[in-house]
Amino acid sequence: AIDPNFEETREREGQERGVDVWGPTDPPEQLGIHGTHVAVDLDICVGDGACLEDCPVDVFEWIDTPDHPESEQKVTPADEDQCIDCMLCVDVCPVDAIDVDPG
Ligand code: SF4
Repeated sequence: AIDPNFEETREREGQERGVDVWGPTDPPEQLGIHGTHVAVDLDICVGDGACLEDCPVDVFEWIDTPDHPESEQKVTPADEDQCIDCMLCVDVCPVDAIDVDPG
């Protein structure tokens, strides 16, 4: 599961598509956590897509992740500013790759 304390345990390496990237990263095999308010651990994500389908405000976008060991497609929280903290994505993710911090 995603580490809910990632802001303390990881370093912010920069941004991709407007969302923070928390390392370590070593693409294409290791992609880190994308997003801060809505955070997706791309190294856990299996590209199931339930979050993207269920989010009422369309926070997530598909990204291609060729050669990642878990999946060749994943989601990034491109519009995390729109999040209304409903927690649906956290509940539906089959691998607990998402952390939403209403604080
Ligand atoms: Fe979307 Fe709700 Fe997840 Fe926020 S908590 S990203 S609104 S599904």
